[in-house]
Amino acid sequence: MDFGLNEEQRMLKDLVARFTRDELMPLESKVLEREASGQGAFLTEGEIAKIDGRARELGLCGLDAPKEFDGMDLPTETMIGVQEELARTVTPYTLPPDSPNLRMLMATVNEDQRTRYLDPYARGEKISAIAISEPGAGADPAGMSTRAVRQGGSWVLNGRKIWISRAAAADFTIVMAVTDKEKGARGGITAFIVDKGTKGFNVLRRIPMIGGAFTYELALEDCVVPHENLLGREGYGFSPMQLRLGTRRIQMAAWCIGISERALDMICNYAPQRVTFGAPLSERQAIQWWIADAATRIHACRLMTYHAASKVDAGQDARTEVSMIKAYATEMAWEIVDRAMQAFGAMGMTKELPLQFMANRVRVMRIYEGPTEIHRWVVARNVLGQRG
Ligand SMILES: Cc1cc2nc3c(=O)[nH]c(=O)nc-3n(C[C@H](O)[C@H](O)[C@H](O)COP(=O)(O)OP(=O)(O)OC[C@H]3O[C@@H](n4cnc5c(N)ncnc54)[C@H](O)[C@@H]3O)c2cc1C
Repeated sequence: MDFGLNEEQRMLKDLVARFTRDELMPLESKVLEREASGQGAFLTEGEIAKIDGRARELGLCGLDAPKEFDGMDLPTETMIGVQEELARTVTPYTLPPDSPNLRMLMATVNEDQRTRYLDPYARGEKISAIAISEPGAGADPAGMSTRAVRQGGSWVLNGRKIWISRAAAADFTIVMAVTDKEKGARGGITAFIVDKGTKGFNVLRRIPMIGGAFTYELALEDCVVPHENLLGREGYGFSPMQLRLGTRRIQMAAWCIGISERALDMICNYAPQRVTFGAPLSERQAIQWWIADAATRIHACRLMTYHAASKVDAGQDARTEVSMIKAYATEMAWEIVDRAMQAFGAMGMTKELPLQFMANRVRVMRIYEGPTEIHRWVVARNVLGQRG
């Protein structure tokens, strides 16, 4: 058992750390100003193009994309350090292509869909979204009611979707819909690719979320999708969707480690300087325990995340471990950032420091890709199954 990073992992992590420091950190104050003025936390197209260009020069695009897409096919384990470093800043940037939808597409596309969607997506030329959640079904997606009915060579989709990230900008959206009500999640839910601009695919509103993000509400109104756009096997959209969620959850655990590291760095830099009642904060036991607990929990979380990733890379069932880290990492980061805000006093409440933004970013992570309570439920069910 080796607890250290190998040479390749260490070099890549260092490279991404430098990239984050040189390309992303300098934009942080602009992002914070945009967010504070209510515009949301975003980068302009020009800023993204410049960063993408630099990422390409450094060989940081397609890191975990397969070799057939000119990617490096790096294992999940190696990607943890990459995501950790990127998350140290609040500047929102994803190295293209975004992995979770890539994994889902790779597991499901046919030859024609590969050419039309997967290839350009893997090259970072297309933006995608995924629409699972509905007003009446979120944590329990099996309860979705959006219907897809076959009519000759097409499917007609009707229903509502909500909280969908990137839905307005996406070139295509993977929409999950019920194709057999009786079978439900066991053979009755199917994934469809819906192109931007398809008649009946209506973006109803943009919803401002905390954490500088926006999501969208969609109405599918007699939205006609050709049969060629059915993704994977009819009725079996659920398991590739789970594949996607697993990839995202490991990524999120790594983000939470990066965010927590940043908060801990901030406390450790500030506490020795701030003097109250004649002594620096760093000499107070309360603050020292926050620091000790944060360092201990980050260490535990990192080991757990590497372990979950190694199981995924080995093709083993890691569902329990992935649920453990999704819940643990998001709750951990929430607590560590909150303590950093407390240590900074009123300054921690300002929108000039990134802490409030980090807190909100983590706050939403405790909800999406499955709320904490659901992951604890999954872990408890599996543990009870093994030991009960
Ligand atoms: C920023 C953001 C981006 C998102 N992006 C997308 C996207 O791109 N695509 C998409 O499809 N969805 C997206 N979502 C939606 C997200 O997946 C859902 O919000 C999430 O699954 C929870 O569903 P819900 O909001 O309907 O909560 P509900 O299902 O109503 O649950 C509410 C709360 O009840 C509790 N709860 C529920 N069930 C149980 C249980 N069995 N045991 C104990 N407690 C329980 C939990 O505390 C939970 O938080 C996004 C959400 C956010 C916040």
